Amino acid sequence: MDFDVVVIGAGGGGYPGAFRLAKSGYNVLMVDPKGVLGGNCLYSGCVPSKTVRELAHTIYRIKNVLGQEVKVDFKEIQRQKDRVQEIRFKQHERELSEHGGVTFMKGIARIRDPKNVIVDVDGKEVEVRAKYVLIASGSEPVKPKFPGSEYCITSDDLFEYKSKVSDLPQDMVIVGGGYIAIEVASVFSKLGVKTHLLVRGDRVLKGFPEQMVKTLLSSLKLDIMYNSPLFEVKKVGSEYEVIFGSGGVKRSLRTNLVMLATGRKAVIPKGSEGLTNEKGYIKTDEAMRTSLQNVFAAGDVNGLAPYFHAAVRMSLAAAYNIMANGEPIDYVDVRSVPVTLYSIPSASYVGNVNPSDAIEVTYNMEDEVMSQMYNEMDGVLKLFFERGSLRLLGGWMVGVHSQYLINEIGQAVAHGLTARQLAEFADQHPSTNEIVSYAARKVL
Ligand code: ADP
Repeated sequence: MDFDVVVIGAGGGGYPGAFRLAKSGYNVLMVDPKGVLGGNCLYSGCVPSKTVRELAHTIYRIKNVLGQEVKVDFKEIQRQKDRVQEIRFKQHERELSEHGGVTFMKGIARIRDPKNVIVDVDGKEVEVRAKYVLIASGSEPVKPKFPGSEYCITSDDLFEYKSKVSDLPQDMVIVGGGYIAIEVASVFSKLGVKTHLLVRGDRVLKGFPEQMVKTLLSSLKLDIMYNSPLFEVKKVGSEYEVIFGSGGVKRSLRTNLVMLATGRKAVIPKGSEGLTNEKGYIKTDEAMRTSLQNVFAAGDVNGLAPYFHAAVRMSLAAAYNIMANGEPIDYVDVRSVPVTLYSIPSASYVGNVNPSDAIEVTYNMEDEVMSQMYNEMDGVLKLFFERGSLRLLGGWMVGVHSQYLINEIGQAVAHGLTARQLAEFADQHPSTNEIVSYAARKVL
C-alpha cells in the first residue's frame, strides 16, 4: 500500500492533521488500535473526567447555594460520561466519512524505516510505503510496581469508556501530587468521598505557578500527606490497607479505593526509539520536525505541552509543514497554550507568569458577578503586563470559569495585545470574562 502520509495514532495529535492533509488532496492512512478517533483524551482522559467533574460541580452547587442534599448515584454519572463518549465517537466517525482522503485502519503501527511502516492488524502484518510519517502515539500512565500494586487503579481505569468503577467509594487514597491527583481528589471530595493524597515529596503541582498553587490549595482544603512514600497495599476483605512512610515511621490507612496518579510517559511506536530524548519523548522542534527529514511528531508523544488542545495545534502545524514539502512554515508557540487544572474551583495559567519586572494587576473573585451568583467567591485573577509597551505577558487565575477566561488571556498573550486594547473591549456582562477588561483598566 502506498500513502502520502501515515499518521500513527488517532488522538488530538493525529486526526486534525490527517483531516487537514486530506482536505488538500493528500492520501492519508491513519492507524489506531482503539478503532475509534479521539485518542486517550476521549477514551479515558479529558472528556470523560471533565464530564464527571461538571456533574460533580452541578451537584455541589445545589448543596452550596440552595442548601439541599442531592443523592448521588455514581452509576448515572458514569452512564452520562459513556453517553458523551459515544456521541463524540459518532461525531468523529461522521468527520472521518467527510474526509474521503483519510483511510482509517484499526491496528498498531511500527516504523521499519523512515519510508516504510508496518501495521499489525489482528496479528496480520500490512506493509505500507509512506512519503511522510506523523507520530502521534500520545502518552499513558506510569504504573510503578510494588507489593499490592495490582490492587490499585489509574485515572484511565476510573474514566475509561465502560469503566468497571460504578460505585462511589466512601474513602479513597490517591497516590501522587500532580494535576490528575489534585483534580480527582477535588472532584471526588465534592461528591462526598473522603479523599487522602499521599505525596512522596514536600510539594504538589511542580511546574505550576507557585502563587497559583498556594491560592488553589488554600481553597481546596485537601487532606495532603507530604513526605509520605507508598510502600505496600494489602487487600483486607473488601477494603485495602495502604502502608506508607511518614516522618521515618510506617503508618497505614484503611480505604475502599487506591488510585495511582504517578505521572504519564510517552508511548513510543516500535522502530522510533532512536528519535527520543533523555526523558523518553520524541524530540521535535517547534515545527514538529524530528531528526528524520520525513518524520514529524505531534501531541503528548513529544512532551512539549501534554494537553489535547496543544496536540491539535501541533498536529495542524505538522500538516502545514508536510504540505510545504517538509520545510517549516508553521511554528507552535507552546508558551501561549493555556493550561487548566480542573479542580473545583479550577485554576488556569498562560504565558509568562513569573516575569522579573512587570506591572502586576490583581482582581479578587469576591468582586466577580458569577462567583457571587454561585456563592463560590474564592480565588483571584493576576495579569502581568510588560513595562512601557503594556503588552500582556501572561496571567493566572483561580476561581469560577478560569478554564474559559484563560482562552481570552491566551489570545491576548499569543497576539501581543496590550492593557489598552484589553481595556477598550466591552466584555459581555454578566460573565466572568468581564474581569479581564476590568483588570486591564486598573493599569491605565
Ligand atoms: P495525543 O493527544 O497526543 O494525540 P492520545 O494519547 O490522546 O495523544 O492519543 C494517542 C493515540 O495513539 C491513542 O489512541 C493510542 O491508541 C494510539 N497509539 C499509540 N501507539 C500506537 C501505535 N503504535 N500505532 C497506532 N496507534 C497508536
